[in-house]
Amino acid sequence: MTLAGIAIIQTAFPGDVILTGGLVRSIRERWPELPQAIVVRPDCRDLASMMDRDLTIITYDKRGSERGSAGMRHVAGQLIEGPWDTALIPHRSIRSAVLARTARLNPRVGFNIGIQQFIHTDAVTYRRGIHEVERNFDLLASLNGKVEYMLDDETHPPPPDLQAPFFHLTYEGLGEAESIAATLPFAALAPGSVWPTKRWPALHWVTLAGWLAEAGLSIVWTGGPDERDLCHQLAAAADTGVVAAGDLSWQGTAALLKKAHVLVACDSAQVHLSGAVGCPAIALFGPTVPAFGFGPLGKGSRSIGIKLGCRPCRLHGGRHCPEGHFRCMKDLKPVTVLRSVVDTVRETSLVQYGVDER
Ligand code: SF4
Repeated sequence: MTLAGIAIIQTAFPGDVILTGGLVRSIRERWPELPQAIVVRPDCRDLASMMDRDLTIITYDKRGSERGSAGMRHVAGQLIEGPWDTALIPHRSIRSAVLARTARLNPRVGFNIGIQQFIHTDAVTYRRGIHEVERNFDLLASLNGKVEYMLDDETHPPPPDLQAPFFHLTYEGLGEAESIAATLPFAALAPGSVWPTKRWPALHWVTLAGWLAEAGLSIVWTGGPDERDLCHQLAAAADTGVVAAGDLSWQGTAALLKKAHVLVACDSAQVHLSGAVGCPAIALFGPTVPAFGFGPLGKGSRSIGIKLGCRPCRLHGGRHCPEGHFRCMKDLKPVTVLRSVVDTVRETSLVQYGVDER
């Protein structure tokens, strides 16, 4: 079997797309010349553009203009026209598996879970308890010994190495970040999440922001357009910080996080983006746990959660606490988070700015 090019299909949420950046990088490091494409939702194009300058990005508006079989055929047609013969499918979805088959990609390598495993040509063991980046890498590693490395001169070429996501900043993103009037040094706070039970209580954010400001860090409230109102409310209540939420593209947010000394965020895409640009992240976990594979990566990053018999209760978080008390987030106190921020900034040399532990 030859390997002419790889198409990665990942049309899940932004956080999943960011972590797929590790797969893109692993392929690029091993085969710098290999044609590589990624299929993502239109709102994730911006993210994919920071993964690799030679990456072909194909968007699939699966819930909008390309909904239905005609839309899928349109996307498949773009894949058929390209040089890619192999599909890696980290997205656990029937639609993504069918897209790869419609695009006549072969082999089609995905995970051995869900009914879609029967559409893949190669179903790789879905290992639980490891990081998503490592899990995705299993798809690539499964090609070892099965493909003829047509781009290599060596008789026994080395297998690819696992790489974490690493995003390249863009001039556009840097320009956007410059428009945010943040005073250095600053902490980025990302209080939003699609899932209400993943959000830390507003009063905790306000308390933390006040303490950080007292300690000499300025605050930037960050997030997407859906989190703009929440961030404005928190900034007003804490009487500190500038709000960038909703004003920046993903490229702009990446450039902003690159300038931040630390990010504090719920279990969300902001944590993964932070890792991809080298900003240490403090990730607050409530109904989910890092063992699901979505903890923060990168030097100085930390996951925080409290011990509770009901944790974890959901794979993705939910709208309501099944127990009704929501202790996983309410009992995660601001002082605990502050200690983690202090530990992180100590490791990353912020002590020079006079941050004290309480
Ligand atoms: S059941 Fe427990 S872990 Fe789940 S949301 Fe409620 S308090 Fe959090």
